[in-house]
Amino acid sequence: MAERPSWDEYFMQIALDVATRSTCLRRQVGAVIVRDRRILTTGYNGAPMGLPHCLTAGCHLVNGHCIRCLHAEQNAIIQGAYFGVGTSGSQLYCTHQPCNMCAKMIVNAGITKVVISGEYPDEFALEVLSTANIPLVLLPPPTLQRTEPLMTAAAESRENPSSRP
Ligand SMILES: [Zn+2]
Ligand SMILES: [Zn+2]
Repeated sequence: MAERPSWDEYFMQIALDVATRSTCLRRQVGAVIVRDRRILTTGYNGAPMGLPHCLTAGCHLVNGHCIRCLHAEQNAIIQGAYFGVGTSGSQLYCTHQPCNMCAKMIVNAGITKVVISGEYPDEFALEVLSTANIPLVLLPPPTLQRTEPLMTAAAESRENPSSRP
């Protein structure tokens, strides 16, 4: 029998599964918000409800970013608002590092820890999270081995760009 995954591995695996529902052609991102080891909400990146998806309308690129989509973390937080589920004191599992807008939303959503399995080139997001004292933990797939906190892992990845997702 395979070893049971840790809680971090379990929620990250779910975030990876959630990402497969993404409708963006650029990047598939999944997020899971958890409190007390229970899933509160999930989200993946895609266009707002009822609006054309990247899959049919193509990505809408501005400065290299697809602006058609809400981000996975945003959709996970919005799902809390939609169903009246509070996010205060929760933890976020995301397949990628949050961008700076998502990082700011994470702060104000009361999320206390962020676990990611892949990076995203947004240095200011790192500054936002660290200034807000929100730990950011890198748990890379597919082996899901725990590693050093992101700042160390990010430096390693810069030296070894082929390891990027
Ligand atoms: Zn897109
Ligand atoms: Zn974002």
